[in-house]
Amino acid sequence: MKPFGYLRATSVEEAVRAAEGQPGARFLGGGTNLVDLMKLGVERPGLLIDVTRLPLDHIEELPDGGLRIGAMVSNSALAAAAPVRERYPVLSQAVLSGASGQLRNTATTGGNLLQRTRCLYFQDVSKPCNKREPGSGCPAREGIHRDLAVLGHSPHCVATQPSDMAVALAALDATVHLHGPDGDRSVPVTEFHRLPGDHPEQDTVIRPGELITAVQLPPADRGARSRYRKARDRASFAFALASVAAVLDVRDGVVRRAALAFGGLAHRPWRARAAEEVLRDAPATEDTFARAAEAELAAAEPLRDNGFKVPLARNLAVAVLTELAAPPARG
Ligand SMILES: Cc1cc2nc3c(=O)[nH]c(=O)nc-3n(C[C@H](O)[C@H](O)[C@H](O)COP(=O)(O)OP(=O)(O)OC[C@H]3O[C@@H](n4cnc5c(N)ncnc54)[C@H](O)[C@@H]3O)c2cc1C
Ligand code: SF4
Repeated sequence: MKPFGYLRATSVEEAVRAAEGQPGARFLGGGTNLVDLMKLGVERPGLLIDVTRLPLDHIEELPDGGLRIGAMVSNSALAAAAPVRERYPVLSQAVLSGASGQLRNTATTGGNLLQRTRCLYFQDVSKPCNKREPGSGCPAREGIHRDLAVLGHSPHCVATQPSDMAVALAALDATVHLHGPDGDRSVPVTEFHRLPGDHPEQDTVIRPGELITAVQLPPADRGARSRYRKARDRASFAFALASVAAVLDVRDGVVRRAALAFGGLAHRPWRARAAEEVLRDAPATEDTFARAAEAELAAAEPLRDNGFKVPLARNLAVAVLTELAAPPARG
C-alpha cells in the first residue's frame, strides 16, 4: 500500500482547508468503502482527512417540519431514528436493506452517498476501466455486466450507483448540503449523482475539496405512505439488482401525489418522472401502476445479459405501488 498522511479534523473549516489544493486528499468517513478500495489499489490517497469526529452526527428537526441529517450520522442511527421511521419509512427501509448491521454501525450518511460502483472491472486494477483510468476502455460493456445499467448508460461506462439510501432520498426530494473552498452550497439529491456520459470518472457533481455536511429532508406529506423494496441475489449483504422507492398519496381511489425512484438500474438513482406523469390524478389501480412503470422503462437499453432487470423493475414498482394504495391494515 502507498504510504499516506493522516489528519483527524476537529472542525469543518479545518477539514476543508486541509483538502484545498490537494487532489490526493480524501475525507475518511466510516472507511467501509474507501479503505477497501485502498487495499485493492483503486484508491491511492496521499492524505486521509478523518472527518468522523466532526460535530455532524445529529438529526435535527427543522421549523418547517423537515429533518436535517448530519453527514456523520451512522447508517444504523439514521434507520433507527424515530422521526425517520415514523415520517419517512422508505428511508429507514432502504438503509436497513443495505450492507450488514456491523457495516451500518460504521458507515456514515456522507460516505454512503459517495460510495463507488461495485463494477468488477473498476475494482480490479489489472483491468482497463474508464471510471478508474479515463480513456482506458470499458470491458464491462462486452464482458460481465449482469448487475450493471439498463438506463442512462453511455458507450464509456455502464456502471450502476450502489447506494440504497440514495434511491430513497431521491424519491423524498432530499437536498445535499456541501461546504468547500468556495463556501456553502446545496444540490438536490436527484442532481447530485451524474450519468456517465463522456466522463464516467465523475460519479457526482461534488467539487474538489467539498465536504458533505448534511442531507435535508423536506416535510413529509402526512397523507402519503412510502416504501422501499429491493431485489437481489441473496436476502442480505448484496447490492440491488433493481430496487424501488415510492411515496404515494391516494384519496378516494385517485392518486393525489406520487414520487418514484429506481435503484440498481443506472449510474444514479433514477427518479421516474415519466411514471409520475402517468400516475398523476389517475385511478390507483394495478393497471395504472403497470402503465406508469412501463412508460418509464420504455427508455431502457439493456445490455446482452441484463435484460431481466426491466421486467424485474416493472414488477417491483407495480407491487410496491399496489401495496401502498391498499388501505393500511388496522391492528
Ligand atoms: C460487503 C458490503 C456490502 C454492502 N452492501 C451495501 C448495500 O447493499 N447497499 C448499500 O447502499 N451499501 C452497501 N454497502 C456500502 C456501505 O453502505 C458503504 O460502504 C458505506 O455507506 C460507505 O460509508 P462510509 O462512511 O464507510 O464511507 P467511506 O468509505 O469513509 O467513504 C466513501 C467515499 O465518500 C467520501 N466521503 C466520506 N464522507 C464524506 C463527506 N462527509 N464529504 C465528502 N466526502 C466524503 C470518501 O472520501 C470516499 O470517497 C456495502 C458495503 C460492504 C463492504
Ligand atoms: S462499466 Fe464503468 S466502472 Fe465498469 S468497467 Fe466500464 S467504465 Fe469501468
